[in-house]
Amino acid sequence: MLRMLGNSPASMQLSVLKNCTRSLGSVLPQLKIHDFQVVNEPILTYRKNSAERKDLQRALKAAASNCEEIPIVIGGKEFKTSEVRHQVMPHDHQHSIARFYYADKKLVEKAIKTAVETQPKWDRVPIEDRLKIWEKAADLMATTYRQELNAATMLGQSKTVIQAEIDAAAELIDFIRMNAYFLKEATKYQPISEDPKVTKNSLRYRGIDGFIAAVSPFNFTAIGGNLSYTPALMGNGVVWKPSDTAMLSNWRIFNIMREAGVPDGVVNFVPADGPVFGDTITASPHLAGINFTGSVPTFNRLWKQVGNNIDKYVNFPRLTGECGGKNFHFVHKSADVESVVTSTIRSAFEYCGQKCSACSRMYVPESLWPKIKEGLQCEAEKLKIGDVQDFSSFTSAVIDDKAFKRITSYIEHAKKSPNLEILAGGTYSDSKGYFVNPTIVLSKDPKDRIMTEEIFGPVLTIYVYKESDLLETMKLVHTSTKFALTGAVFGQDEEFVKCALQEFKMAAGNFYINDKSTGSVVGQQPFGGGRMSGTNDKAGGPHYILRWTSPQSIKETFVPLRDVNYPYMSE
Ligand code: NAD
Repeated sequence: MLRMLGNSPASMQLSVLKNCTRSLGSVLPQLKIHDFQVVNEPILTYRKNSAERKDLQRALKAAASNCEEIPIVIGGKEFKTSEVRHQVMPHDHQHSIARFYYADKKLVEKAIKTAVETQPKWDRVPIEDRLKIWEKAADLMATTYRQELNAATMLGQSKTVIQAEIDAAAELIDFIRMNAYFLKEATKYQPISEDPKVTKNSLRYRGIDGFIAAVSPFNFTAIGGNLSYTPALMGNGVVWKPSDTAMLSNWRIFNIMREAGVPDGVVNFVPADGPVFGDTITASPHLAGINFTGSVPTFNRLWKQVGNNIDKYVNFPRLTGECGGKNFHFVHKSADVESVVTSTIRSAFEYCGQKCSACSRMYVPESLWPKIKEGLQCEAEKLKIGDVQDFSSFTSAVIDDKAFKRITSYIEHAKKSPNLEILAGGTYSDSKGYFVNPTIVLSKDPKDRIMTEEIFGPVLTIYVYKESDLLETMKLVHTSTKFALTGAVFGQDEEFVKCALQEFKMAAGNFYINDKSTGSVVGQQPFGGGRMSGTNDKAGGPHYILRWTSPQSIKETFVPLRDVNYPYMSE
């Protein structure tokens, strides 16, 4: 595997001025960035007796038998407050794995001040040196700390082995490596200099004056790392509020990045009550951007607050928000039934439907319904739901009591409504963990709220359409909900697929043909949705880093201007 190639980290301490070389009389430092390629981090298999399985089991045992102390960290200093919180295992909610502290308004303000003061110093560290830190961090995540990251994600967020490995190991490492690669590639572009002996034009990537607030969700450890450390890579000062229910895994990331060489104060780790954090960051004149992933109501609240405070700010704050979805599988009569069934089960029920891309509604033609129904019911019945430390579990508990209440309210709605029929699951219990059995619902009404609202849990609703209503049903898919995150079509008929590409152009930011709606890979399917699913900045693609820079164009002239008049004036 090709890796980022670099020199020793000792060179990182060089000041920007030492790196200056003169070229054609230019005072600008020449960028010296070593070229490198990256590939996606391989996913380990955890087969019986494998070394990785043994390492993971050791890490699980260690994490499960400890309740880790997690302080607030601002400028490298640790703080604790009287607002103590615990992170529990969702599949065993009496078992606490971390104790952490909410920052109050004053501490959030302190973190803002620290990030703002650190930003210009950090921005002067040459890009080459920042890339080396990111390279080292990715290597630490891939080796020494891989199983600690996985164990924290499995126990704290109730992910099974494979779900933790594709998130806390592979995706996180990919974000760190690939964003460094995208930055290196971006620096290759320099504007045209028609005659470099006369003028030299250049463009440099600066961080943004102020601070970036990173607000991350519970459901992907990797997203926490990306939201906070990609702005940092680009030269920003960051105040990171991790999710209460992803605290331990996010704390691991913070410590690995410190060990790799990210200086104190560049990213500040600030667990806090959501509204206290949101109110404080949006009230600061130095807010340069919000890097958010989570639900629409939270993002709307932040956006409104920024709007209300717009006259206060030094910059126009950049608002990046990746939000919810009501992701669909649309099946054509020419589809391969087996692939529809297995893809839908995985998409709808892996990680309890708590991936933002999880399939939550499906449209099936009458002719295929009997076979698809039988396949789905048969597979759903076999799914093992249990503790993540039991490697035979397919999925585990939902994240917390709030999620449990929300999800089960939709199941109760399905039980009561004459338009809805439960075909599988429909049962739940929160006595030990927040367990909801994978539930399949049949709906006579394609606009019932179970088919249009985000549930974010293991509930799949199906609408069976008449083949003569194909086009009308396709229209319904993208007009019946405000979301447009992911969607998939299944069909072998080329004309149908071409038609779907047109019809569903605005229905999803990530669109799949004969594949499930989940499973995007950094660098392969840059991720993000349109409409109310978010600002679609395509995390995992080359454009994402550009959200976190305020580039400066520089024109340097070597031939002095001597005359105010133009030659034609004296002719
Ligand atoms: P959430 O909106 O409840 O919380 C997200 C973060 O915002 C958390 O850290 C939370 O503490 C914080 N928060 C809450 N109120 C706040 C406030 N007033 N000000 C500032 N911060 C505040 O979302 P969640 O339950 O953690 O995540 C699930 C949601 O995230 C789902 O809607 C899912 O679709 C979405 N999601 C989207 C993507 C994507 O890429 N589109 C990826 C993952 C998750």
